Amino acid sequence: MLHDLRELYQAVILDHAAHPRNQGKLVTATSDQLVHNPSCGDTIHIYLQVNQGRIVAIQFTGSGCTISQASASLLTTVIKGKTMQEALTLADHFSALAMGQGAPKAGLGDAAILTQVMQFPTRIKCATISWWALKQAILTEQEGKV
Ligand code: ZN
Repeated sequence: MLHDLRELYQAVILDHAAHPRNQGKLVTATSDQLVHNPSCGDTIHIYLQVNQGRIVAIQFTGSGCTISQASASLLTTVIKGKTMQEALTLADHFSALAMGQGAPKAGLGDAAILTQVMQFPTRIKCATISWWALKQAILTEQEGKV
């Protein structure tokens, strides 16, 4: 059972890494954030388009390991259409889960699969880098509107 589950997780991750969703520079972005993970060499650039507090479009560019790219792809599918506040809550929830804190709640969808990296401490940054970029992009967007 656990073995089957791992294979399913792996299939989802490999699918997103091979066929990234929402990849490419978003020309209509209202905020963006580039982050680098020196321990693995991953780079993720998140682009947001926010309209009346809601993330109406989200795209990313990047390079690096399978986990970092799959995590960014999964993130965009989960976050698109959410309010900035909902997205911040999910980002904090994802980061806590990836570090082995708290229990999974609804809302993360397939992205919750990536929180399994808590079993591999060296890969936690790979999974969380895109969520950290998202959070910074949202905070920048909110500051710009104050
Ligand atoms: Zn990595």
